[in-house]
Amino acid sequence: MEKLRYERPVVKKLNTGMMNKFGTRTEYNPVTHIDGVSVKGLIEKYGSPLFVISERTIRQTYQDCKRAFTNRYPRVQMAWSYKTNYINAVCNVFHQEGSWAEVVSGFEYNKALQNGVPGNKIIFNGPDKTDNDLKLAIDHNSLIHIDHLDELYRLMEITKEVNKRPRVAIRVNMDTGVYPMWDRFGFNYETGQAWDAINKIILNDQMDLVGLHCHIGTFMLTANAYAIAASKLADLAYHIHAKFNKKISYIDLGGGFASKNTLRGSYLQGNVSSPSFDDYAEAICSALLNAEYSKQELPLLILETGRALIDDAGSLCGTVLANKRLSDGRRATIMDFGVNILFTSFWYEHKLSPAQEFSHYTEDGVVYGPLCMNIDVIRENITLPPMKKGDNVVVHSVGAYNMTQWMQFIAMRPNVVMIDMDSKVHLIRNKETLEYINNIEEMPAYLKEFNLS
Ligand SMILES: *Cc1c(COP(=O)(O)O)cnc(C)c1O
Repeated sequence: MEKLRYERPVVKKLNTGMMNKFGTRTEYNPVTHIDGVSVKGLIEKYGSPLFVISERTIRQTYQDCKRAFTNRYPRVQMAWSYKTNYINAVCNVFHQEGSWAEVVSGFEYNKALQNGVPGNKIIFNGPDKTDNDLKLAIDHNSLIHIDHLDELYRLMEITKEVNKRPRVAIRVNMDTGVYPMWDRFGFNYETGQAWDAINKIILNDQMDLVGLHCHIGTFMLTANAYAIAASKLADLAYHIHAKFNKKISYIDLGGGFASKNTLRGSYLQGNVSSPSFDDYAEAICSALLNAEYSKQELPLLILETGRALIDDAGSLCGTVLANKRLSDGRRATIMDFGVNILFTSFWYEHKLSPAQEFSHYTEDGVVYGPLCMNIDVIRENITLPPMKKGDNVVVHSVGAYNMTQWMQFIAMRPNVVMIDMDSKVHLIRNKETLEYINNIEEMPAYLKEFNLS
């Protein structure tokens, strides 16, 4: 029989914390496998920490989302938001499912092209498009979403130069009842900026205004904001038709659906408080169906959903480095991953599960990362069974933004694997090496040598 684990007794102040309506949290069960693959086996083979992506979860989540919309509206197109997770294998799962690409920089644009996305299925958003980016996008007949007047005027000059007629949309920002308002991107609806830009584009007649776009925020906890946004874009389309007898072929409502993660400090857990795909779809599709379109005129509905499609598919497997007692008696557990690779710990109370069996005793504590930085906190407050050095954990729902916003700070970025539909494991991004990092540094000749003896 295995020897029972001994915990050195301590005297400590009781830290009960506030209960929410679920009582104290007892959500913790060991998670020993992901999609049938052993967590310990994965760590043995690919190292710790390790990002693990479930192809099955991506496809299921995508199909659930798509279905919620196609059940309610006849013409729906998804476009994968590259910045949410642009590891090529991840992008290609979405492209296999039928997603176009949505990019916000020349770097992402080229990534999408190299993944094989046809240029006319790439949506180019964002305030930072260089002249070369714009020329490339015009050449490939992509959908260019204009962000501001300076970009509009520059694009007009370039179209004259290259003598081509690009397909464009404008990004519109608006009051949807959610504050602070995201009014730094695009043209404002209420002040008439958007209408002004529309008139400039159509009357100058150098570009084809084919769509209207908005991206009203991220982690939107109210579906109704999308109904307001859809109505306002539909209203613009109606006025374009009335004044110019011109049909807008698509309405793009951007991304921003909340995932099931729990926001820091929130009273309810994310799987209870976040609207479902059906909630969002109901709000958006009703608003479009109720607008002034005849059946033949219904625009294509484009969605650039990022976070909500990939968060659940990503897990981070890691290892306990050490335990200590803080001066107030609380247990602190130090992991081998920190905010350097888990940026979303700043926003989320990530759910974390031990990857091995444990006793029923649990304790309130803090989970830290390994960085020599005070901000390196994974969970400020968590109830966990005690774990010892070398034990493994799985952090859930980390698929969105971590594998793009991760920093090469103090430690290098780890391996990323994907578990396919048959539970086969594929390495999809190699961990960084010192050689890889040194490769892009240059040493001036006079600094090559020194003598410390
Ligand atoms: C970031 C972004 C998205 C994706 O947003 P999520 O909140 O991850 O769904 C979509 N469209 C644009 C323009 C974006 O900038």
